[in-house]
Amino acid sequence: MVSKCANPSCDTPFHYFREGKLFVFEPHERGSSDLFLRVEHFWLCECCAPSMTIVVDAGGHPRVESVQHTRPAA
Ligand SMILES: [Zn+2]
Repeated sequence: MVSKCANPSCDTPFHYFREGKLFVFEPHERGSSDLFLRVEHFWLCECCAPSMTIVVDAGGHPRVESVQHTRPAA
């Protein structure tokens, strides 16, 4: 389970669900028949939640990303 904020540069300990934002991911491994896939939980504290989010990359690995409010068009 979650013990601290998912932001690697933030050490806020996890205390309450009502604070910050909780993310739940159910990983799906392609080509695998493993029925015991682990559900991943990530939590961002109330300081990080407005400016960061958690996304799953192409390999199925969740990672913390900062939210860009003024992201230029690619
Ligand atoms: Zn934080």
